[in-house]
Parts: sequence; structure tokens; C-alpha cells
Amino acid sequence: MNNTWWMNSILISIVLAVDRVRWKEVCEAGLDNLLQSIDQAAADRRDRQHQNQRASATSTVPKCKVCGLICKSDFGLRSHMRAHNRPS
Ligand SMILES: [Zn+2]
Repeated sequence: MNNTWWMNSILISIVLAVDRVRWKEVCEAGLDNLLQSIDQAAADRRDRQHQNQRASATSTVPKCKVCGLICKSDFGLRSHMRAHNRPS
């Protein structure tokens, strides 16, 4: 950022402040852009999470090697395995 950039920014601000209708249009357009990019970022994040969930669901299913029970998580499988290892 140099002095010319600042001067241009100040000039644009003054022109927009004088022209209230144009100022309002610029603010609304900027707000629309911001909201659209926020929505797009959230949609992208959801898509990535769903892809990760599908990938992990197909690659490593926590399954008991003794009885074949499929658990929802590795933690659940470890908890289930204690039942097989318990002395009878
Ligand atoms: Zn089992």
C-alpha cells in the first residue's frame, strides 16, 4: 500500500459519501458478496465433511474379529472387546 492507493481510497470514499444513492448500492453489493461467500464457504465445508465421513465409513469399519459385530467407532470396538477378554 502506498500513498497513491490511500489517496484513491479517500477520493472514492468522498465521491461515494456525496452520492448517497451510489454509496448505498456499493454497500449493499458488498454485503451481498460477503454473505454469498460465507454461504459458499459453509457449503464447501459441509461437502468436505460428508466426503470425509463417507471415506472413513468405507475404508475402516470397526469390526470385532471374534464375533463380527460392527461398532460405530474404534472406541466402541475397544469397549466391546473387553467383553470377550473378560475371564468367565
Ligand atoms: Zn465381539
